[in-house]
Amino acid sequence: MKRELSKSTNDDVLVFLESRRSKVLALTRALVETESPSGDVEGSHAVVELLIEAARKIGSVTSIERIESPGYGEHLRIRAGVGAQDESGAVLLIGHTDTVHPRGSLAERPWREQDGRIYGPGIFDMKANCALALEVIESCSALDLAPRHQIVLLLTCDEETGSMTGRALVEEEARKARCVLVLEPSAAGGLVKTARKGTGMFTLAAQGIAAHAGLEPEKGASAILELARQIERLHAMNDPARGITVNVGVIHGGTRSNVVAAEASAEIDVRFNTSDDARWLEETILGSNPFDERVKLNLSGGINRPPLERTEKVAALYEVARNVAARLGFELGEISVGGASDGNFAAALDVAVLDGLGISGDGAHATHEHIMADDIARRGALLAGIIASL
Ligand SMILES: [Zn+2]
Repeated sequence: MKRELSKSTNDDVLVFLESRRSKVLALTRALVETESPSGDVEGSHAVVELLIEAARKIGSVTSIERIESPGYGEHLRIRAGVGAQDESGAVLLIGHTDTVHPRGSLAERPWREQDGRIYGPGIFDMKANCALALEVIESCSALDLAPRHQIVLLLTCDEETGSMTGRALVEEEARKARCVLVLEPSAAGGLVKTARKGTGMFTLAAQGIAAHAGLEPEKGASAILELARQIERLHAMNDPARGITVNVGVIHGGTRSNVVAAEASAEIDVRFNTSDDARWLEETILGSNPFDERVKLNLSGGINRPPLERTEKVAALYEVARNVAARLGFELGEISVGGASDGNFAAALDVAVLDGLGISGDGAHATHEHIMADDIARRGALLAGIIASL
């Protein structure tokens, strides 16, 4: 018998997960201490192995698949379903096992607990959430919260570098899902993310003509001067009111100070709120013309992630989560952010997406990355409550 989702049920989940805190932390620690920066095939295999070992012990898990990702390692797809009849309309949980922290980060910043905070490379984004997701699946069956729908947990291994191979999997599962819960870190104060900007990455390479800077500069065409002009033009595309940001974050160019530079290049990051703006940015940047016609411009790149827009479906799913949080005794806020996640790919398919469901903490991608130990059970109870409400 499926239990009513009363306040007391939610409290039961909270008590259950609180009793499992040390178990969640043991797996989290094992994951953090197995470094897995994007592109580290060996690290990816090792963290997936740890997760599989844990998933095998969960009674409701019906299938565990490792999916090869050349050059990155492997993605992991776990299906669980007590009483779920078919896979149509599954609740999809998505996350990632890769981190931005290179090997050796752990030696510099080992696992450390202090004042209720637990530090470690990749703990907040998002190894603790990978461990918690498994415990949430287990709690659903342990407490007879039999969700009406199958749960699919998809953990990819290349999210931090743009999901070159994970994207298709995310889209494949999101298309079939009734909703998508994204295990990315929450924003300050535990806020979930109901809108995310889309992102694009471009490279502009300028090919000029080299010449002696003192003897015959007129025979040269400076790629650096051209690039400087292009950067002014690109940055003029920034439009805070419209939510457009354009940033040239990296430049290279030239050989010596007494040579007119033959080559220079720039790496460009763009962010936007709407698909229309995405198209405009892409067309404008890829269609750039040189100021000095002797210089050739070579433009590459494109839109990487579409925006996650706060559609009615997103708002309705947020409402479900807010109600569960209220029954657990806390206010769940929402926020719109500039950073993109795999939730963006799902949202572009017009599925209900709620992002930023991870454990509270701070310092994603930074040296002070940590989670709040007291939030583990609460966040898990929130996730379980949402799953059981759908
Ligand atoms: Zn992440």
